Amino acid sequence: MRLILVGPPGAGKGTQAVHLAAHYSIPHISTGDIFRTNIKNNTELGTLAQSYMDKGELVPDSVTNEMVKDRLTWDDAQAGFLLDGFPRNVLQAEVLRAVLAEKSTPLDAVLELSIDDAEIISRLSGRRTCSQCSAPFHSLFNPPKVENICDNCGGALIQREDDKEATIARRLEVYAEQTKPIISFYRNEGLLITTSARGDVTEITARAIAALTAAVVH
Ligand code: AMP
Repeated sequence: MRLILVGPPGAGKGTQAVHLAAHYSIPHISTGDIFRTNIKNNTELGTLAQSYMDKGELVPDSVTNEMVKDRLTWDDAQAGFLLDGFPRNVLQAEVLRAVLAEKSTPLDAVLELSIDDAEIISRLSGRRTCSQCSAPFHSLFNPPKVENICDNCGGALIQREDDKEATIARRLEVYAEQTKPIISFYRNEGLLITTSARGDVTEITARAIAALTAAVVH
C-alpha cells in the first residue's frame, strides 16, 4: 500500500497515520517528525527547518523534496509507505509523482481527513506531543493514561512550539493557500478518498480502512 494522508493541521493526521501504518504494516513517514528529530539532534537540516517551522511556513521544496526522495529509497519503504505531511504543495506532488513513476510504483490512494474550520482551533489547542518519541495525544480526544506522560515511552508530553496560537493562524493560511490545491490535483488523478475526521480515534481509523478497502484492490 502506497498511501498519502492529507488534511489541515488539527485533522488528526499524525494519530491516524500511526494506526493506519500499523494496520497495513508500512512505515509511517512524517516529514514534520523528520524535521523535529533533526532539530532535536542539532543538525544543519534541523537549524534550517526550525526557522521556517517556528513561523508556520513551509520548509523550502528543494530541501524537503530531497529529504523525502532519500527516505523513499530505504529498504522499509520498498513494499509500501504512508506519507504524512508530504506533499504539501502541488510542486511537491509533481516531484513525488515523477519519483514514483520512475520506479513504476504509483500511489494507491490519497486519504483526505476532512474537518470544519471551526473545529480545527479547538483541536489544535488541546494537542500534546511526546518530547521523546513524538507520539501524538489530545487532552480531550486522545488523552494519555497518565496526565502529561506518554503511553508509549513514558516521555513528558509537551505543546509543540508551532501549535501555539500565533503560529497556528499562519499554518492554517499556508494550508489553504498552498496545500489545499493538492486535493484537486489528486482528485483529477482519480486517487482521492475523503473521509470525515469527526468522532473518536478508533472510529475514524475504522472508517478510513473501510473507505480504503472499498477503493483499493490489494
Ligand atoms: P507537521 O508535523 O506535518 O504539522 O509539520 C510541521 C511543520 O514542518 C510544518 O508546519 C512545516 O513548517 C514543516 N513541514 C512538514 N512537512 C513539510 C513539507 N512537506 N514541506 C514543507 N514543510 C514541511
